Amino acid sequence: MSITANLKSIQTTIPENVTLVAVSKTKPISDLEEAYYAGQRVFGENKIQEMTQKWEEMPKDIQWHMIGHVQRNKVKYMAAYVSLIHGVDSLKLLKEINKQAKKKKRIISCLLQVHIAEEESKFGFDETELFDLIKNPEFLQLENVQIKGLMGMATFTKDMNQVRKEFISLKKQYDRLKTVLEGIEILSMGMSGDYKIAIEEGSTMVRIGSSIFGARNYS
Ligand SMILES: *Cc1c(COP(=O)(O)O)cnc(C)c1O
Repeated sequence: MSITANLKSIQTTIPENVTLVAVSKTKPISDLEEAYYAGQRVFGENKIQEMTQKWEEMPKDIQWHMIGHVQRNKVKYMAAYVSLIHGVDSLKLLKEINKQAKKKKRIISCLLQVHIAEEESKFGFDETELFDLIKNPEFLQLENVQIKGLMGMATFTKDMNQVRKEFISLKKQYDRLKTVLEGIEILSMGMSGDYKIAIEEGSTMVRIGSSIFGARNYS
């Protein structure tokens, strides 16, 4: 199937209140252009350099989401244009985003990444760290970042009960966060393999790559 056909068919399975982020990492500009001409305006990338190159080449009405792990020394390269940073996993990183946003006279929207998977390797806060962070005076001082919600990645497993359990846990933390912070409206969970479950469990934003663009080739 073509990128256009894939997009259209995914679109029909996603409710109106759920935002589709087209994850275009590793894919050539021509693929992004096809998605753009099919109406897609939100793209997700996981490397700042690659995203910046694509931002330079693509139309300017695209919203660029950084979905990968962010190195602090690279925040400056996306500060002028990034529309949402999904993977914020430390106060140190948040302070750097704030600093670079201030230089550009912007307020940058961010999601806090929560560790819900069983794998050790995935980044993010646990629930205690999350609620400690938002009480931290240093956090409360940051004026050029806006926390919009949470992001999480489920365990890479065929056990969909496990995946569902993790999404339910993230949704609970999201609902709790809503009661203590203003402006919480985005719950980023769900990828190609599990986005339908994520939506059932309350996702408002899905990040879908391979089901739109085909498998990635890292060689
Ligand atoms: C690559 C990636 C995705 C998309 O994965 P697919 O399985 O191709 O849909 C979603 N979220 C993050 C954080 C990713 O790195």
